[in-house]
Amino acid sequence: MARRRQVYEGKAKVLFKGPEPGTLVQYFKDDATAFNNKKRGTITGKGVLNNRISEYLMMRLTEVGVPTHFMRRLNMREQLVKEVEIIPVEVVVRNFVAGSLAKRLGLAEGTPLPRSIIEYYYKSDELDDPMISEEHITAFNWAAPQELDEIVQLSLRINDFLSGLFYGIGIRLIDFKIEFGRLYENDQMRIVLADEISPDSCRLWDVKTNEKLDKDRFRRDMDRIPEAYQEVARRLGIMPEGGPSDFKGPRLVQ
Ligand code: 5GP
Repeated sequence: MARRRQVYEGKAKVLFKGPEPGTLVQYFKDDATAFNNKKRGTITGKGVLNNRISEYLMMRLTEVGVPTHFMRRLNMREQLVKEVEIIPVEVVVRNFVAGSLAKRLGLAEGTPLPRSIIEYYYKSDELDDPMISEEHITAFNWAAPQELDEIVQLSLRINDFLSGLFYGIGIRLIDFKIEFGRLYENDQMRIVLADEISPDSCRLWDVKTNEKLDKDRFRRDMDRIPEAYQEVARRLGIMPEGGPSDFKGPRLVQ
């Protein structure tokens, strides 16, 4: 990694100042955490795969007109993104019951929802990302009502597009978490999709077997965690030539 000024270190990523003003470099780590840092571990090759998977999904979303912070992938673990002012709200979109929704309402995991549900969580490690309503978001000025409208419209479009994209490769998009930011360009401000979209932030189940192909394997102490991430990349057609061995670094050339 070139020497760069670090601006932020999160659980799975590090952000560095980018080469141009208004840009950042997102570095994807293999570190995995769950339950607000109470469980920690490493998933070998996860950073490389998430860098590729997020690049792919952000590019496809850009093609259908969803504005994102993504600019281009730089190398195995880094991508160049536009610097945005992150809105401190995690937007969760759900299509099927799972995770905290199953627990909170005592519903069976995998039950289809009558319609997609959007939930909001306040981004705060100290408070364990508490669930909030639209009222909190606008009352505390985390986003203006107009911005929130835009976030809802974009989230639903992203959900429709990604649900179809994943269904086409035999994967059910159960739910996912996204984040948005304000992008300031030429005296104008736009809401854009930020952060990442990967098996760290989505629940992805095989359509036929319901096998989990996401971070729930780590959260629930299941086996074959790296293989699940690899399978998502493989089905998206973005496994680097030579398969997973390409992720481990230099290879002996005979
Ligand atoms: P749940 O609320 O059921 O735990 O999570 C809903 C969805 O949002 C899941 O796909 C989960 O992976 C994602 N999600 C929720 N909170 C976070 C978070 O803090 N980080 C990441 N990466 N994903 C999250």
